[in-house]
This record gives sequence, structure tokens and C-alpha cells, in this order.
Amino acid sequence: MWKTGSYKNSFVISLISILVILSAYLVWMFFEKEAPCIKVKGLPLYLSSSKRFVLFVSDRKMGIRRIKIELIQGKKKKIFFDKSFSYSGLLNRKGTHRYTNQVLLNPLKLGFSDGDITLKIYAWDYSKRNSFKGNLQLLTKKLKIDTIHPQIVPLSRLNYFSVGGSGLITYEVSEDTVSTGIYLNKFFFPAYPIGTSSKRFKRYVCYIGIPYDIKFPVDFYIWAEDRAGNKAIARFYYRIKKRSFRKRSIIITDSFLKKVLPFFSHLAFPENARDIDKFLKINREFRKKNNRLIKELTSKTSHKRLWKGAWIYLRNSKCTARFGDHRAYFYKGKCIDHQVHLGIDLASVANASVSASNSGRVIYTGIMGIYGLTVIIDHGQGIFSLYGHLSRIDVKKGQEVKKGDIIGLTGQTGLAGGDHLHFSILVNGIFVNPEEWLDYHWLRNNIIRKLKRIEGY
Ligand SMILES: [Zn+2]
Repeated sequence: MWKTGSYKNSFVISLISILVILSAYLVWMFFEKEAPCIKVKGLPLYLSSSKRFVLFVSDRKMGIRRIKIELIQGKKKKIFFDKSFSYSGLLNRKGTHRYTNQVLLNPLKLGFSDGDITLKIYAWDYSKRNSFKGNLQLLTKKLKIDTIHPQIVPLSRLNYFSVGGSGLITYEVSEDTVSTGIYLNKFFFPAYPIGTSSKRFKRYVCYIGIPYDIKFPVDFYIWAEDRAGNKAIARFYYRIKKRSFRKRSIIITDSFLKKVLPFFSHLAFPENARDIDKFLKINREFRKKNNRLIKELTSKTSHKRLWKGAWIYLRNSKCTARFGDHRAYFYKGKCIDHQVHLGIDLASVANASVSASNSGRVIYTGIMGIYGLTVIIDHGQGIFSLYGHLSRIDVKKGQEVKKGDIIGLTGQTGLAGGDHLHFSILVNGIFVNPEEWLDYHWLRNNIIRKLKRIEGY
């Protein structure tokens, strides 16, 4: 008898234990204390008008019950997002309940105005804690509404340019500007700050290069954006003088091809390509590729001006080709190609010493396709000089050079018929006429005077 009783007792004990464990587990489950997790992405500190941000809410165990978002400014409070979720059951308890959505924040539409504003995101879960209301997570963000557009004040007045030439525009913009520069059609010229002129304004310099093939009429304006994303543009007085460029014929001979093609022997040409076909591929496709790479290399620049005073050029040299020369290439009496010369050619004695035209930092040394052995120097704020067809390079990438320092020797590497220096100037990636920069009269009137007026040049 007692044996059966003992079996019964132990069965009851086991049953009670199981019930106790089960109910403890259910209490632990239903009364879990893990609050939801809230994350936001794409929410800036400064807001101009409406802004969409991404909201992530996740909750482990019981799942998300409700999400509420409100904005508070002074005594004004508005709820602009309130979403309740149905209970998805314990079956999901092992997984994490997630909610991701884009939320539109439009404080102006809700009647708020410029100044400090607080964003509060609440999320509750389905736990039975807190008198069955669930665990609460609160995320508070302090934001600023700023709907005032940047103010732009053009400073330089005599903004005269010629096609293929350069120039400097100076202006000031409100202090909270984070990005500014000048648009000329599709071209963008970044501007660089040169200190503060007052508490509310910052001064900028912006160097412009007018492409030799610019399309008229032009759209030319200063652009600025502040930290809240407010944008503004301003027009200024300018003139762009149209000019025509020289036409030059270049005779391609077989002996010239025999001389220059070995330099390009590493390139892949179609089988059985004639020398003249190889030349055309180099003169067209390779030239384009080289100029694209130069543009890319000159897109990063020192924000400080590294040059000073007159620009110097190859000593005792003669200019044998000019910027913008439209070249027609003839082979056996037939015109086979047209290209534009994007620099000047300076010829002196063979292997003449080449100096840095002005102070700066070397950003490239090596073979640059049609330009042969090449050195590129960054002079700061978007201005670069390029030295091509060298026979020797005496500087290293990253090296700082002073005006007049020897950087190499002239030669005839690349697509060069004889020993000469190909000299180019680039302004924010645009090839411009170097003769302007080498002319001190032009430099003083168009650049230095403007710099003197706004900085301690
Ligand atoms: Zn040249």
C-alpha cells in the first residue's frame, strides 16, 4: 500500500515542481524587463525644412507594443507619429521583433519655428511589467531648426576673364556655411576660406578656369549651403571675352612614328596595326585617358595658397606652341586627326634644367602617356602646374618645392618630336592658358590685387 502511496507522492511532487517551474518561466517571460532598443539614422543636428530619417526599433522576448514620437519646443508639444502593434505571441519569443521605417520630420508644418527643439521617441514592449503597460525606452534628441538661407556678398568687382583663361573671385558668406563655391555651367569650382571678416561672415577665395570650349550663354553664380541644408546662390558682375585660337598643321612622317612609337610599346594595339593606326589610337584615346587622369589627380588640393609672386618659366626658351592651338594632323598629304594643345611648348637647349614655376607640393612624378615623363605640382586652392616630356625627374611625390627649385631636365619622352618642355596650368581640373600666369602684369591685376584686398598677401 505505502509503496503505491510513495509513487503517488513523488508523482504529485514532480507535478508541482513542473507547475512551479512552468509558472516561474511564464512569469519570467511575461514580466521580462528588457526594454526595446531605439536607433535613428540620417537625423542631422540642424534642420532646415522637412527631413526624412530612418527609425529602427527592436525588442527581444515579448515584442513591440507601441511607438510614439513627439516634438517639443518651449511649452509647445506635438505628437506626429503614434503606432500600435498587435501582439505577435510567444511563438516569436526566440526571435527579435523589429520595426524599420522612414519617418518624415516636418517641424514647420507642425507650427514650430527656428531655434532649439527636442525630439522624443518612445517605445513600449508587450511585457506585463509596469502595471501591464510594458517596458519603456525613450530616446531624446536635441535639434536646431534653422530656415535662414546663407547670405552671400560678392567682394571682387573687376571679374574679367577670357575664354581659356583664369581668374579669381572673392566673396563672403554667413558663418554657418559648410560648403561653397562657384558654378560655371556644369563646372564647379570649390572656394577656400581665408579667415573670418566678422562674427557673422567668413571670407572665401575661388579660382576659376574658363574651359577653352565653354558654351555660351554661360550660367555663372556663387553657391553656398549651410549646416542645416539651406542653399543660396548669388550673381556677380563679370565679363568673359571670347577669343579664337590658332590653327596649326602638324605633318606626321614615318621617321617621327619610328621615333615616338617605341615609347608606347607597352600599349595593346590590334594585331597588324600600322604605325599610323597606333599613332591615331595614342593621339585620340590615350590623350583623352591621360587628360582624365590629370583631372582626377588635380581634384585634391591644399586648402592653403602655397605660391607667391611671379611665376617663372624655362630660362632662355622660345614658345613653340601655344595654349588652345587647334592642331590638324596630316599624314601623306591627308588630314587624319584634330586635337587641341592644352599648354605651351617651351624649347631651349637639349636637357635644359626645369625649375618649379612657383612654390608648392609635388603630387605626381612618372610616365603620363603622351606627356612622357611628367611632374605635377599643387600650388594650393586648386592651382596646379604640369611639366611634360622630361628626360629626367629630380623630385619625389609629396616633396615640397620652392619656386626655382630644379625638378628635372627637358627631353622628348612621350609624344614629342624634339627636346622641349610642355608646360600646363590647371585650375580646379580645367586646363587654362599658362601665358596669363606667366605674365606678371596680368597676375597683379587679376589675382594679387584681389588677394591684397582681402588677406594679408
Ligand atoms: Zn605641348
